[in-house]
Amino acid sequence: MGSCAECSTWVYGGQLTNGCPPVYTSSSHIVVLKFAGLVGHNRKISSLKIGGRRRRRMIVNAAAATEKLQNGIAELYDESSGIWEDIWGDHMHHGFYDPGSDVSESDHRLAQIRMIEESLRFASVSDNSLQKPRKIVDVGCGIGGSSRYLARKYEAECLGITLSPVQAQRAQALAAAQGLVGKVSFQVADALNQPFPDGKFDLVWSMESGEHMPDKAKFVNELARVAAPGGTIIIITWCHRDLSPSEESLTPQETALLNKICDAYYLPAWFSIADYIKLLQSLSLEDIKAADWSEFVAPFWPAVIRSALTWRGITSLLRSGWKTMKGALAMPLMVEGYKKGLIKFAIITCRKPAS
Ligand code: SAH
Repeated sequence: MGSCAECSTWVYGGQLTNGCPPVYTSSSHIVVLKFAGLVGHNRKISSLKIGGRRRRRMIVNAAAATEKLQNGIAELYDESSGIWEDIWGDHMHHGFYDPGSDVSESDHRLAQIRMIEESLRFASVSDNSLQKPRKIVDVGCGIGGSSRYLARKYEAECLGITLSPVQAQRAQALAAAQGLVGKVSFQVADALNQPFPDGKFDLVWSMESGEHMPDKAKFVNELARVAAPGGTIIIITWCHRDLSPSEESLTPQETALLNKICDAYYLPAWFSIADYIKLLQSLSLEDIKAADWSEFVAPFWPAVIRSALTWRGITSLLRSGWKTMKGALAMPLMVEGYKKGLIKFAIITCRKPAS
């Protein structure tokens, strides 16, 4: 099973390989293959008729595409994290705002902390000294804002992983400066192949990294694998809108807008909230909950754009590299995507069965 790489329709098609990366086909959807640049959207291919050599070539191409994507992600964050930290601080995620409230510039850090708190509350993570998390993994940790916050809040050990060496180094330096050595640590590692044993963490945290994952099934599988029995998994991520029962895919205009955003931010195909829920259900995870928080994050991108247009923002951007500039130029597309109801800011949480 898998989801169509372009229209994201969930497909229980013929799985051609068991290994990484998965290649899925069905009669009417192109799953993951598109990402390897091999086929176009919704062009029919007959499943399971692909010969051995061609199949191997597809797998090699898909692996090369993943590697290219991940190099792009690492370079984007290597290049842009310093500027982000200068202007916005150590949390590289949306803030949570009261809908319709007047948002002053100084409220944003508070809104980002509130995002963490609201997410923990949504997932019913306990503050109780006997039940609070003791071991946490921060999957796609940026420069470690969430890791340090969670480690302090729960007096827990927190391990963060990122693809960006610059981020891992900076996260570690901030931890040292804040007296958290031994409590939090960071390394460069792939969320799709985490360097942790099964069942290690009682809180698995992924704040705005899921959208970068080219293989959502593998991503969620890894989150579930490293979660301890009874552990909580929290995924906060960008999704596209759910499709209606009569729809096979997003509209061509919607797809075109998402493609531009993907290009700017090194994102592969998107999932909808419904896609995530089906995936979690297929793994027998429990207490699955999801919500669309788009209305609570609406002020975020306009505020980022305003900060980019200040003298400090402009001079920083001019000193940055092309990937950062490209990301900045794409910011209005995010606003457009939210306004059109195409982009959804999602929280999806669940628990690994206790045994
Ligand atoms: N969660 C952080 C950072 C969000 S930015 C915060 O809220 O501040 C997205 C992060 O996801 C970056 O750190 C990027 O390196 C990471 N990421 C993307 N794909 C990844 C992958 N395959 N493995 C590990 N980290 C990944």
